[in-house]
Amino acid sequence: MLKQWIALFASILLSSFTLAKEGAIRPGGTLSATQFRQIVHYCQTDRPRFWSLLEDIRNQDVQITLSNERKGGPGKAVGEHRIVLSTFYLTNDLPQYPEDRLIIVLLHEYGHILYNRQKARNDQSRVANEFAAFRYSLEVAGQLAKKGDTGPLREALHRMKARSQTGRPDDPHTIALKQLMNDPLWQASIRLLANTDTSHTGTLPKTVIRHIQ
Ligand SMILES: [Zn+2]
Repeated sequence: MLKQWIALFASILLSSFTLAKEGAIRPGGTLSATQFRQIVHYCQTDRPRFWSLLEDIRNQDVQITLSNERKGGPGKAVGEHRIVLSTFYLTNDLPQYPEDRLIIVLLHEYGHILYNRQKARNDQSRVANEFAAFRYSLEVAGQLAKKGDTGPLREALHRMKARSQTGRPDDPHTIALKQLMNDPLWQASIRLLANTDTSHTGTLPKTVIRHIQ
């Protein structure tokens, strides 16, 4: 009898672990609970495609921190399960950071997470990691364009090209972008954008990131 109870307890414990795949979205830095709620509400109403993608990524076992600390750029991936986003870029309606670009930023950081999960720590390289992140964001942007939302793809091609030209030559981002431009995906993405109907933008398909992992 005791054995059966132990087995039952173990199975409940195990199922709770397997269900614990969903990450959380939490405040970071000095954000108060109220400020955090306001930011979440703002994103949900004013950045709905971005927020939908954020929830999709959270559901892939990623902890997401929205922080009011401005360290570096808009986003940062940490290890295999964590993304930190700067709320400065999410809530200030910066002309340089429209929702389409925020979507690309998020896909880029998730691309790092996928790379970090695939590669052993001693087998990781900065350039290869950036290449994987840029390529992943371009690939998903293409999937979105095929489903009618061309904004992120247009933004990705435009920003990546500009950064490859203006970035420091020894910066791993610049090197990775130059490599990406020689990847068949680059030309395919340019053709895809040219051939896609740009007269309408769709909503972000919920399942897109699961299909191409
Ligand atoms: Zn990166």
